[in-house]
Amino acid sequence: MTSPQHFALGFFAPLIAGALFCGFVGLIWEWLEGHSIQPLVTMLVGGVLFAMATRWFVRNCVSVACPFCGGRSYEIPDRGNRFMCRVCGKDH
Ligand SMILES: [Zn+2]
Repeated sequence: MTSPQHFALGFFAPLIAGALFCGFVGLIWEWLEGHSIQPLVTMLVGGVLFAMATRWFVRNCVSVACPFCGGRSYEIPDRGNRFMCRVCGKDH
């Protein structure tokens, strides 16, 4: 995977995950209401948590090919779209 693809995945995957969760809450809406759970709150809070978890997963578990050696690189925390290679140690 290249870094623009990774950037797109980091942006769209959480949106899709959040939307899927909202769709899921829609399916079990009446079940939630029957169990005294507010479906709208579940949808909002759960959707945000789900999106954040997906973003975390993409940042920490999806690697980008290093342009120097082809090794696995992972995003550097707090530095948007910069990657550190686990093999040769270069960032790019
Ligand atoms: Zn490398």
